Amino acid sequence: MNQVDLVIRGARVVSDHQIIEASVAIDGEIIVAVGHDDLMPSAREVLQADGLFLLPGAIDSHVHFRDPGYPHKETWKTGSAAAACGGVTTVFEMPNTNPPTATIDALNLKLKAAESSYVDFGIHGLLGDDTVGHLEELIDAGVTSFKAFVGNTFGNLPSPSDGALLEGFEKLAPLGIRTVVHAENSSILARRQKRMQAEGRIDALAHLAARPVVAEIEAIGRVLTLAEWTGARVHIAHHSAADSLFLIREAKRRGVDVTVETCPQYLLLNTDHADHLGGILRLNPPIREARHNQPLWDAMMDGTIDMIATDHAPHAPDEKTRANIWECDCGFPGIETQMALMLTEVNRDRASLMDYVRWSSVNPAKAWGIYGTKGVIAPGAHADIAVVDMNKSGILSENELQSISKISPWDGRAVKGYPIHTLLRGRFVMRNGKLVTEAAGWGRSVKGIQAMPKAKPLNTEHYTSAILKTPEGVRLTAEPKR
Ligand SMILES: [Zn+2]
Repeated sequence: MNQVDLVIRGARVVSDHQIIEASVAIDGEIIVAVGHDDLMPSAREVLQADGLFLLPGAIDSHVHFRDPGYPHKETWKTGSAAAACGGVTTVFEMPNTNPPTATIDALNLKLKAAESSYVDFGIHGLLGDDTVGHLEELIDAGVTSFKAFVGNTFGNLPSPSDGALLEGFEKLAPLGIRTVVHAENSSILARRQKRMQAEGRIDALAHLAARPVVAEIEAIGRVLTLAEWTGARVHIAHHSAADSLFLIREAKRRGVDVTVETCPQYLLLNTDHADHLGGILRLNPPIREARHNQPLWDAMMDGTIDMIATDHAPHAPDEKTRANIWECDCGFPGIETQMALMLTEVNRDRASLMDYVRWSSVNPAKAWGIYGTKGVIAPGAHADIAVVDMNKSGILSENELQSISKISPWDGRAVKGYPIHTLLRGRFVMRNGKLVTEAAGWGRSVKGIQAMPKAKPLNTEHYTSAILKTPEGVRLTAEPKR
């Protein structure tokens, strides 16, 4: 083999099923060899990584980079810089920007903004009543997947009607494209919020009271019913409750192609933190009582929940710290702190590094059809690597975040286990804990490598597209009796 660009030696390489001592050779954007150091080609650069672990870069299925529309909260450049510094090499970005990613023009604006990205990306287009007729055009123009805001959240995009959601699934099922669903029942939470506002409840816990577990149970049940009927692939965003896990377990047992994410905040935070965090903690679905934390962990371990995402949802500090909970924007940044938080739990023996790689890289790559090129450290794959020091300790600080949104519930939290270098397609985007600013714009869409498994549409004879024409030989109405 000719001389290659980079060999990383001395580290251990982690997959979802093994940890091996191996060197990794990278040429251009691609991993060309993984194996014994004696077998490595000569390289222009060697990274000595003794004692460190090489993880496939994390793939975050759920981020809001707020661009276009809200550049005071975040931009593609700052959000993706946060990703790079958090060991994240691919993100899937949400459509509740302004304009929302519901038209070709809006998509093109977003793709333009994403040209400054440090990391690779997919774009979730909006699935709603107004877009159902244009899903294929959006896919052709660069959308990788869709998002349906069945539950309302920041941006207040109207929830799709059940009819539109069904027709959307009918259109996407034959294409094999997966739809992310924010699964809360909007009618329930809007009514309860209004009732409490009328009575003057403005405390932090009122937000949780407005969005009870039953709103999640009902919405997940409805979405799974429509997905199972049509054969559409769905992805449940930010699963927050213990009580709705049974629906996922039963659906998976029946063969429904549903993937599920949860986020560090649902695993590690609960209402015990609400007193001192107040509006900072406000997000959708809400942070719930402590009794939900462990069942969500258990569901990660048994495969009911497939992956860890962050719902990176930045806002300006003054938008998070108002006295009235209803005036605090929902969400907080998380992409930069996810890996350190989760590695800390690995260091506490709550999961193995292989479990973590399954949640952070392998399963998201499979869900979005990019596994093999991403999600794995193997010859032929993109050289997307988080180099991790499991012994590095520190205190998370919101002031050190790359994100514009310098307000985080994780501020002051002790962690052990950090990404210290991040490589995206062979290039350092974070090195020695510092952003490599020249790498802005190195990120690109994963659309070109996306290959979803074969689609399995069901009940197609009942699809809206199949019922629009009167069948031959069928009478229009019963003939009147004379
Ligand atoms: Zn979100």
